[in-house]
Amino acid sequence: MASDTCEACGEQVKIAGGIANLWTLENDATGGMTLEFDSDGSEHFLCFDCIDRLPDDPTAADVAGLDEE
Ligand SMILES: [Zn+2]
Repeated sequence: MASDTCEACGEQVKIAGGIANLWTLENDATGGMTLEFDSDGSEHFLCFDCIDRLPDDPTAADVAGLDEE
């Protein structure tokens, strides 16, 4: 079990091993995921709470705006 820091809220988030867990409903094992943006090639690790606050088609600018609210 690894952990990473949400870039928006700074929470320590547990990450279960194996990408298969990201696509199940077992969110208690994995608390976030990395979003990749094709527009600028950037990657941002976010917890699911912050991902929930993003619009349906988020951009890197939306991620940057999360911690300003
Ligand atoms: Zn967060």
